[in-house]
Amino acid sequence: MKRQIFAPEHEAFRATVRSFLAREVLPYYEQWEKDGVVSRDAWRAAGKQGLLGFAVPEEYGGGGTPDFRYSAVLAEEFTRAGAPGLALGLHNDIIGPYLTSLATDEQKRRWLPGFCDGSLITAIAMTEPGAGSDLQGIRTHAEDHGGHWVLNGSKTFISNGILADLVIVVAKTTPEGGAHGLSLLVVERGMDGFERGRNLDKIGQKAQDTAELFFRDVRVPKENLLGDLDGAFVHLMTNLAQERLSIAVSAIAAAEHLLEITTEYVKEREAFGRPLATKQHIRFEIAEMATECAVTRTFLDRCIADHDNGELDAVHASMAKWWATELQKRVADRCLQLHGGYGYMSEFPVARAFTDGRIQTIYGGTTEIMKEIIGRSLLG
Ligand SMILES: Cc1cc2nc3c(=O)[nH]c(=O)nc-3n(C[C@H](O)[C@H](O)[C@H](O)COP(=O)(O)OP(=O)(O)OC[C@H]3O[C@@H](n4cnc5c(N)ncnc54)[C@H](O)[C@@H]3O)c2cc1C
Repeated sequence: MKRQIFAPEHEAFRATVRSFLAREVLPYYEQWEKDGVVSRDAWRAAGKQGLLGFAVPEEYGGGGTPDFRYSAVLAEEFTRAGAPGLALGLHNDIIGPYLTSLATDEQKRRWLPGFCDGSLITAIAMTEPGAGSDLQGIRTHAEDHGGHWVLNGSKTFISNGILADLVIVVAKTTPEGGAHGLSLLVVERGMDGFERGRNLDKIGQKAQDTAELFFRDVRVPKENLLGDLDGAFVHLMTNLAQERLSIAVSAIAAAEHLLEITTEYVKEREAFGRPLATKQHIRFEIAEMATECAVTRTFLDRCIADHDNGELDAVHASMAKWWATELQKRVADRCLQLHGGYGYMSEFPVARAFTDGRIQTIYGGTTEIMKEIIGRSLLG
């Protein structure tokens, strides 16, 4: 089915992203995977190319276009290229909205130009060793010392954790406040007491730096409170819909790409004297996956359009996230099976997509938590 959400300018942007990938990402990707981290030069190049901060007002160096379709194109092309390590989507779609919607004018002047030119890499730190799905278990806390906060605690599994220059940290500011005693504090590279732990060794997304972060008596100036005091929970709930949509968009793109390469593979690979594509079981596998992808794509494109119209709610974003990522997981498994032993070889894109994609049903809220949100909306 022909997609209906894009205009010619989005397709022109797609061509730009493809040439950026060919020039600035793919030649270096193998090395980044060995290093466990991408190069800062790639971030600078992305800034120069206009791939950072589409939604940031032009006065701060951004594109001034809060049109999520550009984010969708970026996510689709990076997914197709098998290059999740350079986490531009995390920076633009997940962290960007916190800065554009919550920062004061002074904070915007301090952070947004670097955000857009690639010199200021960002991260968001919610998860702790003892608190993932249940953010009420957060123990990282900040004490009010008049002109500044004193922050103590630790975070884990933080994407961009090694490279980040600016980290939005979710911390308890009112101990007895429960979910409504949490605030967003911005911790910057070089603050005394802010340390990074290990670059964590993952089964996939090897070029993405995912790290532990430690805060020991970090003095965070009062000017680095982002949004309302004790307002983190509400801010997170507002922004998580776009985070979930962004993950869902890359999930359907991954499933479609896997289907494409597997369709080609079964046409070429022969067994028992004929191409695999002539066997009924294989044809049914491809037919089922194509149907599931087409149905999911229709829903996802509608979610993207609704989001641009300000109409995508948390429940539909949760539906999109769990459905598309679980589809991606199923398709990756079935496509790997259709490749036989070659599917298990790291040099085959299907193998990489299998391990790179496995995290999708976990981060940004697990499948089970998405179902909780949907169930609560229907059943109370
Ligand atoms: C590669 C990677 C990158 C990440 N990036 C970031 C990041 O940048 N910033 C950040 O803050 N976090 C990040 N995370 C953390 C991620 O968001 C959490 O791992 C995720 O939210 C799950 O939390 P958890 O690991 O503590 O699992 P748990 O919360 O311990 O869950 C374990 C299992 O129990 C299930 N479960 C939990 N509660 C319920 C319930 N009420 N009902 C039914 N089942 C339930 C879960 O669905 C899951 O299957 C990242 C994680 C990874 C692996």
